[in-house]
Amino acid sequence: MKIAICVKIVQGELNPFDASALECALQMEGVHRTVVCLGPPGVAGALRKMTRLGDFRTVLLSDTAFAGSDTLATSYLLASFLKTISPDVIFCGRQSIDGDTAQTGPSLAARMGFSLQTQVLEFSGRKGRSREGEFQVSTPTVLTFERSYPLRFPSLRSRVREVEILDRHALDVDLSRCGTQGSPTRVVQTFEAPRGRRKCQWISWSELEPLVRELRHQAKKSVKIPPSEKRLPQVCAVGREIAHYAEAIAEEVVYWEKVSVEELVARAKQEKPRVILWNADVWGRQTAPQVAVELETGLCADCTALETDGERLWMYRPAVGGNILAKIECRTRPVMATLRTVQASGEVVIAGGKGVAKKWDEILRWAERWDAQAGASRGLVDQGVAPYPLQIGLTGKSISPKVYLAVGISGAVQHLCAVENADTIIAVNADKNARIFEYADYGIVKAF
Ligand SMILES: Cc1cc2nc3c(=O)[nH]c(=O)nc-3n(C[C@H](O)[C@H](O)[C@H](O)COP(=O)(O)OP(=O)(O)OC[C@H]3O[C@@H](n4cnc5c(N)ncnc54)[C@H](O)[C@@H]3O)c2cc1C
Repeated sequence: MKIAICVKIVQGELNPFDASALECALQMEGVHRTVVCLGPPGVAGALRKMTRLGDFRTVLLSDTAFAGSDTLATSYLLASFLKTISPDVIFCGRQSIDGDTAQTGPSLAARMGFSLQTQVLEFSGRKGRSREGEFQVSTPTVLTFERSYPLRFPSLRSRVREVEILDRHALDVDLSRCGTQGSPTRVVQTFEAPRGRRKCQWISWSELEPLVRELRHQAKKSVKIPPSEKRLPQVCAVGREIAHYAEAIAEEVVYWEKVSVEELVARAKQEKPRVILWNADVWGRQTAPQVAVELETGLCADCTALETDGERLWMYRPAVGGNILAKIECRTRPVMATLRTVQASGEVVIAGGKGVAKKWDEILRWAERWDAQAGASRGLVDQGVAPYPLQIGLTGKSISPKVYLAVGISGAVQHLCAVENADTIIAVNADKNARIFEYADYGIVKAF
């Protein structure tokens, strides 16, 4: 079997999701491996270090003409190389920790005409397990990996191998489809991500239960998106979960069913919509990038807001791990965006973080006693204590309960961005200076 592993170097390090994919490939016997990376010449050093990990060919696609590639241009360049080696299977990380769009894998599947399996936790031969359960694949296929395989360390006797660098002359590519030239999406402005700081009132542990009882009987504050002053004549929305976004920016919304990539592409080619909006759920994150490739148009992932002047559409998305908000425009049609939707959650959500890793069972019993939903930080999910479907945050789910109770959670920006729509946030933390108290309405300093 010929396996190609697509990797990205982020701040001099291998993107952790790609490292997991590489480790899985290294554990498979009797296979031929090629590692391919798109990046500036400066990443060759990190790739060279990586070659000590095992027996594989390493290729860096690098040229000034490739710089600034968005996901459409990136998948075009990677596919241009991959078609020259005809792999049976392509491994990618689910996403990169800087761009975190999760679009490259699905886009590559569309470009190569391969099947796609995302959220992979384990794989060998033709079988595996993903976040959605057991699966079997027939080749050729693209797999996108979770951070489930810890990458090995190089053995002392291992040696550094050559990194082949391929530029525009070595790759048969159309330069107008590469780099900024080939990237329909463009960041027009960035802002420090607005964080919903709140005024924290300190309370005692004994005050907590009566307070939550009182708050859950209050009316739920609605998450309304104010309509834009000027609106687009019409937009298309795939599914109704994003109706509140679509109706805020358009006079008319045409709702499309969630059907196959082929049917969606055919409809788009026939109806020529200016805008197609998608829900950023697992299906949307798999399907929208494939449709974008087939339509050769830009796709902006995981947006949290849209703005229009009646003519143009701007999309806002958290970037750089949620620390900034980027305002993005797309120069091709249809303009496409996947939108983060706030998932329905119970009135009360009790979430645990790394601070209560040893007491997770107690958190679950507490939630049951209070007829509340349980949640978790990625810190606790990455430790394998809590299951991924409970993860709240940038790479988990966004929620809007009446009461969000965060226990042993520090308050990282990637966590808080997903609970901004909670009516009341209560934090329980052993550290009085924990960042989460700046974003809570009530605080209890307590070692749980
Ligand atoms: C691209 C990207 C995406 C990410 N996506 C997410 C995401 O979706 N969701 C998410 O949550 N994170 C996400 N993160 C990770 C995030 O940056 C933090 O690493 C993570 O949220 C930290 O988890 P934590 O608060 O549980 O752990 P820590 O940060 O380790 O905090 C533990 C807290 O527990 C407190 N504590 C310790 N002991 C006790 C005790 N006995 N009782 C009470 N308190 C105690 C400590 O004071 C501390 O404040 C992402 C990061 C990146 C870069």
